[in-house]
Amino acid sequence: MTNDILVFVEQRDDRVHPAGLQCLTPARELAGKTGGQVVACLIGEGIDQATAALEQAGPDRILIVRDPALKDYSALRYRTALAAAVEHCDPKVLLLPASFMGRDLAPRVAMRTGAALATDVIELTLTDDGALDVVRPLYNGKATCHVTFPADRLAIASVRPNTFAAPTGGSAAQKEEIPYAPAPGDDRITVKEVAKTGGDIKDVTEADIIVSGGRALKSEENFKIIYDLARVLDAAVGASRAACDAGYQPHSRQVGLTGKTVTPKLYIACGISGAIQHLAGMRGSKTIVAINTDPEAPMFKVADYGIVDDLFKVVPALTEEVRKLEL
Ligand SMILES: Cc1cc2nc3c(=O)[nH]c(=O)nc-3n(C[C@H](O)[C@H](O)[C@H](O)COP(=O)(O)OP(=O)(O)OC[C@H]3O[C@@H](n4cnc5c(N)ncnc54)[C@H](O)[C@@H]3O)c2cc1C
Repeated sequence: MTNDILVFVEQRDDRVHPAGLQCLTPARELAGKTGGQVVACLIGEGIDQATAALEQAGPDRILIVRDPALKDYSALRYRTALAAAVEHCDPKVLLLPASFMGRDLAPRVAMRTGAALATDVIELTLTDDGALDVVRPLYNGKATCHVTFPADRLAIASVRPNTFAAPTGGSAAQKEEIPYAPAPGDDRITVKEVAKTGGDIKDVTEADIIVSGGRALKSEENFKIIYDLARVLDAAVGASRAACDAGYQPHSRQVGLTGKTVTPKLYIACGISGAIQHLAGMRGSKTIVAINTDPEAPMFKVADYGIVDDLFKVVPALTEEVRKLEL
């Protein structure tokens, strides 16, 4: 085993996901202690722009697994490709973002490499005897626990998105290509269609501002007012599980315990009650604005600013005011 820290940096359509770049920050801290290198792994087809963007974040080396079969994310093929990168560089630690892709991939790679895994971690350190020690939240973030890995085996951790800032100011990294050698069973799952939602609107894990809607929106069409406000603020659109379950928004926009965890600078909750499972995904937001007709709604307890009124009146008015600011 080397002292290197390997980071899986997720890309789609040749665009790196910020959550993958953010993992390079704890990786650099750990490598400073182990005396090893920060090695990033990119998997896909083409991926020249993703490689250039990754270099800006300053890894020492980049391992590239490039193959037409890896164009779209496939859990089994990516597992094989990432396990090959692990075998190639024999790292002490492998970090992945706890994004949808990372959450899907991490246990499969742990199984394939025989490593231990901790998911959704928010702090990482090395103990005096060189073992990885991580902190992960429990019970919707009400408690945390330490997980210490054996020092003599590969440790795998998925890192909660938006816990660390991505590093900048990197220069050229050493690049190595690793061939993708399909393993038996890799084709058990095939990607038939990649469905994209939201058009020009960002993903909730990538945005500084999120405008989020709840069951109170009552229909998919009514979400238009949420999208209008999001567009003028250059924000992402989020939703509660009730809104997603009712079909008003795709589950890819769901924020919360069983959705995505977000920590934007501004979270505007429109007609969302503030159930504990929703708060679990957004209570780390810097500034929270609640718009709700019920002054007793739990969302007001975590909100920095509250508007007790009908969202169908307030949201279009906010959009108009922001438009005026832009002029
Ligand atoms: C295991 C488990 C996991 C879960 N995971 C998640 C999760 O990841 N994310 C999540 O969101 N939920 C999750 N839930 C569901 C959660 O418990 C709530 O049911 C859900 O968050 C409620 O969504 P909501 O606030 O949109 O709807 P409601 O609770 O129905 O609240 C609607 C709110 O809108 C207000 N309102 C109504 N009309 C207007 C109006 N015109 N203008 C302004 N305000 C208005 C009401 O006063 C109310 O506060 C989970 C539940 C379980 C059991």
